[in-house]
Amino acid sequence: MTREGDHIERPSEETLDALSRIVGEHHAIHDPVEMTPYLVEWRDRYVGKAALVLKPGSTEEVAAILKRANETRTAIVPQGGNTGLVGGQIPFESGNEVVVSLARMTHVRDIDLDGNTMTVEAGLVLANAQAVAESAGLLFPLSLASEGSCQIGGVLATNAGGMAVLAYGNARDLTLGLEVVLADGSVWNGLKRLRKDNSGYDLKDLFIGSEGTLGIITAAVLRLFPRPAATVTAFAGLAHLDSATAFFSRAYGLAGPSLTAFELMPRIGLDFVLRHAEGTKDPLKDSHHWYVLFELSSPRKGDDVTSLAETLLNDGIEAGEIGDAVIASSLAQDRELWRLRELMSEVQKHEGGSIKHDVAVPVASVPEFIARANQLVELMIPGARPVPFGHLGDGNIHYNVSQPPLMDRAVFLANWEALNAAVHEIVLDLGGSISAEHGIGRLKRDLLRHAKAPLELELMRKIKQAFDPNGILNPGKLL
Ligand SMILES: Cc1cc2nc3c(=O)[nH]c(=O)nc-3n(C[C@H](O)[C@H](O)[C@H](O)COP(=O)(O)OP(=O)(O)OC[C@H]3O[C@@H](n4cnc5c(N)ncnc54)[C@H](O)[C@@H]3O)c2cc1C
Repeated sequence: MTREGDHIERPSEETLDALSRIVGEHHAIHDPVEMTPYLVEWRDRYVGKAALVLKPGSTEEVAAILKRANETRTAIVPQGGNTGLVGGQIPFESGNEVVVSLARMTHVRDIDLDGNTMTVEAGLVLANAQAVAESAGLLFPLSLASEGSCQIGGVLATNAGGMAVLAYGNARDLTLGLEVVLADGSVWNGLKRLRKDNSGYDLKDLFIGSEGTLGIITAAVLRLFPRPAATVTAFAGLAHLDSATAFFSRAYGLAGPSLTAFELMPRIGLDFVLRHAEGTKDPLKDSHHWYVLFELSSPRKGDDVTSLAETLLNDGIEAGEIGDAVIASSLAQDRELWRLRELMSEVQKHEGGSIKHDVAVPVASVPEFIARANQLVELMIPGARPVPFGHLGDGNIHYNVSQPPLMDRAVFLANWEALNAAVHEIVLDLGGSISAEHGIGRLKRDLLRHAKAPLELELMRKIKQAFDPNGILNPGKLL
């Protein structure tokens, strides 16, 4: 039986030796056991093998690796914090690829307080990048549940989103410049700090979201913002799913840019959290089918965001959109409310198999999408439990489906592709996207062929061919 990646040829021992010498033996991993953390992904969905793992310490070393790899047609898998959810950072099982981990490249090259930017290397862990901004009195707003492990290069390569996209945009919106090593080892220095640059094609935007298939990102200029001086978090139980979008419009209309997060959660997801996560409790007395968690914030000290939240909730209750709500009255309560949302993905592991979708539809279509997808699930796998949650303000729903409690896990998971295809059909029918923030990688590569117009796919292939004519960068991923 041929496996994916079997067509990739194993580099010669001479090539592997030469590549190891570039980083020094100390930073080249040959031993399969030592390699394990680089070969297994977070959900254990993909387990790969590699001919070698390299940990370069500088842009020059990355350039030397790619030059040699290009000359010898050695396949390279760029890797950041290995938190990607679509298998893009994991080599295939054939064991013929070389993983290049950016983990050692963590320098902060510059902080520009006048221009509100920082220039950092690709291996810097996102939480550390946030801390660097904070120590300069500023905010780097990109925030994901994986921020303690994912790296700047990885979040840019996947154009990550997260909790604060509504107010600040996704990784692409937060990036002014990039340094990228191209497939042939040449270095593109695009580390500009410009907010305006209308001088032709925007190369930076091609690399962002390219999932390691066009070049290796080695450094980036990131935008910084004033830190919020006033913040409030509220949690509201909704009368109906339709109320979620009505209440979102109300919140945006009243708070405008002060609305910095707006997340949707179903009762079943909250039940999973309360059942499996220690120290959690239901914030409201009565049970509701749906909940929203929202945050209002302002960089101005005197701004009374709490009163704004109260007005908003009162209006929502009067309009019949909201049943009951609570406003966090302390930092601890704020953390408790956010924890309910942050745990929503993780706790699903304890309920057996879960089939995932990370999709986006226009915000106004979210209720229709969920209603249609729920009906479909019940038809295809009676008793399966949809847990749709996510960034409602961005129209991004993580449409996860937990198995019926008594069903065999493997039997349930065998429905993965059929259910994906059927749910994605609804998404496309509503003008949505089959990948909102996690990317395509290996998981959605074949689906992409149905989701994109032939012309779009042809243009994408031409771009790949132009940047990586020998196909050495993450072959078999994305396209
Ligand atoms: C618990 C959890 C929660 C998450 N929440 C979110 C979320 O809210 N929003 C969201 O958008 N994503 C989320 N993700 C997935 C998300 O894609 C990643 O966390 C993050 O963007 C990947 O960064 P990484 O450094 O781990 O990259 P990796 O997983 O190592 O790599 C991801 C892809 O980028 C490529 N790559 C990595 N580094 C480079 C580089 N320097 N140059 C070129 N290519 C590179 C890899 O080849 C691969 O294709 C979550 C993941 C987990 C585990």
